[in-house]
Amino acid sequence: MSADYHVQDRVAVITLNNPPVNGLGLATRSAAVDGLRRAAADDGVVAIVITGAGKAFSGGADIREFNSPKALAEPTLHTLIRAVEASPKPVVAAIHGVCMGGGLELALGAHYRVALPGAQIALPEVKLGLLPGAGGTQRLPRVLGLETALDMIVTGKPVPSEKLAGTPLFDALLPAGSDPVAGAVAFAEAVAARRPLPQVRDLAVAHPDPAAFLAAARARVAQEAGPFPAPPACVEAVAAAVEMPFEDGLKFERERFLHLTTTTASKALRHAFFAERAAAKVPGLPADTPVRPVAAAAVVGAGTMGAGIATAFADAGIPVTLVETAQAALDKGLATVRRNYEGALARGRITAAQLEQRLALVGGTLDLAAIAHADLVVEAVFEDMEVKASVFRRLDAVMKPGAILASNTSTLDLDRIAACTARPQDVIGLHFFSPANVMKLLEIVRGAATAPDVLATALALAKKLRKTGVVAGVCDGFIGNRMIEQYLRQAGFLLDEGALPAQVDRAIEAFGFAMGPFRMADLAGNDIGWAIRKRRAAQQPGMAYSRTADLLCELGRFGQKTGAGWYDYRAGERTPQPSALVDEMVVRHSADLGIARRAIADEEIVERLVYALVNEGARILEEGIALRASDIDMVYLAGYGFPLVRGGPMFHADTVGLPAVLAAIERFASGYHGEAWRPAPLLALLAAQGKRFDA
Ligand code: NAD
Repeated sequence: MSADYHVQDRVAVITLNNPPVNGLGLATRSAAVDGLRRAAADDGVVAIVITGAGKAFSGGADIREFNSPKALAEPTLHTLIRAVEASPKPVVAAIHGVCMGGGLELALGAHYRVALPGAQIALPEVKLGLLPGAGGTQRLPRVLGLETALDMIVTGKPVPSEKLAGTPLFDALLPAGSDPVAGAVAFAEAVAARRPLPQVRDLAVAHPDPAAFLAAARARVAQEAGPFPAPPACVEAVAAAVEMPFEDGLKFERERFLHLTTTTASKALRHAFFAERAAAKVPGLPADTPVRPVAAAAVVGAGTMGAGIATAFADAGIPVTLVETAQAALDKGLATVRRNYEGALARGRITAAQLEQRLALVGGTLDLAAIAHADLVVEAVFEDMEVKASVFRRLDAVMKPGAILASNTSTLDLDRIAACTARPQDVIGLHFFSPANVMKLLEIVRGAATAPDVLATALALAKKLRKTGVVAGVCDGFIGNRMIEQYLRQAGFLLDEGALPAQVDRAIEAFGFAMGPFRMADLAGNDIGWAIRKRRAAQQPGMAYSRTADLLCELGRFGQKTGAGWYDYRAGERTPQPSALVDEMVVRHSADLGIARRAIADEEIVERLVYALVNEGARILEEGIALRASDIDMVYLAGYGFPLVRGGPMFHADTVGLPAVLAAIERFASGYHGEAWRPAPLLALLAAQGKRFDA
C-alpha cells in the first residue's frame, strides 16, 4: 500500500506514503483513489484530508516510473485529481515539507488547502524541459494571479509557503511546528457542512492587463530560454488559462505537454537528470559501503588548483591546510583563497560573516608533517611524475594510517603514483577542474588498488563539495582530457585546411558550446598544451598535430594572460578581437604545407569537433575507463561546457543516429589526417546492430 487510510474525528485521512518524497507512482495514485471511494461510501465520514507521510506532502511524479508504462496507467494523475475535485465530501490538502510538481497539482484539485510555514511550493517541470501537465498551468494562475504563477512555472523555483500566504492557494497557514494533520482535520470538521464545494477552476485569473503582461512575458521568456522550448511553452499554457475556458485550457496544456516530451531538448534534460544520479552509483560498490570520515583536509601545492581546491573544502565547511615549499608561494595561495571569497562577497553570494567563517577554516604550513592528522590530502603540485613521486613518498611517511592520499593529476598514471607508497589502497585521483571552487565536475580516478571504501568516500565527498563526481579508470587524460585532445587536434587540422580560429569558435558556439576551442585555449593558456605536446612528442611520436598552436606559442602568444593568443585582448575591451597576425600565420602555414585552402562549412566544423569527442568516448567506454556512456556525457556537461540542450556528446550521437555518425567518421577518414579517424570498434558495432550508446 503506498497511501494509508484512517478515520480521525469523522474525517478520513489519506496519507500518501511512498518514500522518500511520496512520488505519485501508480500504486500511490491507486491507493489514493481507493481512499476517496472508501471515504465517500462511509456515512461516518464528513470530510477528507490528503497529506503525505514523513517530511513531504508530495514531490510529484515518481521518477522511478519515468519512461515506464506505469506513468500513463490508470488511474493517472488526471484521474486522481478529477476524483478529488468530484468528491461529494470536502477534500482538504494538508501541505508540509515539499509540495512540488504533481503534488502541487493534486493539492490544487482539492477544495481547501492548509499548509505549514516553510513548505517548499514549486512546479519544477520546466527544469526537465516539460510543463506541468496535470492542470498546474491552469490552476496556479487562478490562485496566485498571473504574474506570480507565471514566474513560478517558467523558472521552476520553489517558493516557501509563508510567502504565498494570503492568496487563495492556502485557506489557512498552520502554526509553525504544529501537526499538519491535526490542523487539517480541525479545519475539515469546521468546513464539513459548507456547500457548494469551492473549486479552483471556478476562480478568475487576476491581473489588471493580462494581454500586455503576456505580450511582454512572451518576448522576455523567448529571449531568456535560448534553445529550450519549455519556458515559452509554459507561457503559452499560462496564457491559455487567461484566454480559454478551463476545460479547453486543460486540453491545450496536455497537448503542449505531450509535444514537449518528444523534443530533443526535454529528452536531453531528462537524460542529464538521470545521468547525474547514475554517476553516483558504481557497479560492485554497494550503496552501504562504509565511508571514511573527512573532518579535516589538506592540499599540497597552493598554485592555481591548490588554492581553488582549498576554497572548495572551506565552502563545504571542511577545515583545510595548504602546504607549500616556500613562504612566498604559500602567501600567494592563501591570498588567492581570500580573493575568491572577496569576489563571492562582492557578487552577493556570501555574507561578510561567511567570508570570515570560511577563511578561518583555511590554514597554511611549510611543514608536511603538520598535516599528518588530516583525513584526506589532495596533492596539486606540478604535473611532473618525479615531483609527484617525491611528494607521495613523503606523504606515505607522515600521514596517519587510513588517511586518503589523493592526486589532482590531469594526465599522469595514478597507479605509478600509488606505487610510490606502501598503501596504494588509500590512493585515488581527485581531478578538479579550474576554477576548482566553481566548476561542478570532479573526475574520481580509481586506481588498480584503490579500496572500495576510499572510492565510496570520494563519491560522498563530491556530494559534500556540491560537485558531480564521475568515476574514471586510469589512462592518459582520463575521460575529459583524453577526449578534448582529439577535439583540439581537429580544431588545429581545420586551420591547416582552410578555417580561421574565429570561424571555428563561432560554428561550435552556435552549436551551443559555452566557448570554442581557441577562446578556451586562450583562457587556459596556450603554453600548457605546448608543454604537453612536447612531452608527447618524446613519448608518443606517432600522434600528429597541427603545428599552428606551436607557432602561436613561438610568437609568445600564450593567451589572455599575455594579452594575446589566438585573439587579441585589448585592455578595456570585453570581447576578444580576431588577430590579423594570427590569421596570416595560419594561412602561411597552409602554404608551407602545400595545402590549397578550401572553404569549410560550419556543419563540417561542428561534426569534426563533436564526432572526435564521440569516437574517443566510444573507445573510453569499450576500454572500461568510463562505466557508462551517460558518465561521459556528465563529464562534458559539468566540466567542458557541452550544450545541455543536446545532452552530452554520447547522447547527441544517439540522437543523430550512430550509423550517420559512423558514416561521417568514415568520410573524414579519407580526408586530411584521416589516420585520426579510425572508427572506434564499439561505435561500429552499435551502429551495425542498430543500437544506442545508452542502451
Ligand atoms: P601551479 O603551477 O599553479 O601550482 C603548483 C604549486 O605546487 C606551486 O605553487 C608550487 O610551488 C607547488 N609545489 C611544487 N612542488 C611542491 C611540493 N613538493 N610541496 C608543496 N608544494 C609544491 O599548477 P596548477 O595549475 O595548480 O596544477 C597543479 C596540478 O593540478 C597539476 O597536476 C595539474 O596537472 C593539475 N590540474 C591543473 C588544472 C589547471 O587548469 N591548471 C586543472 C586540473 C588539474
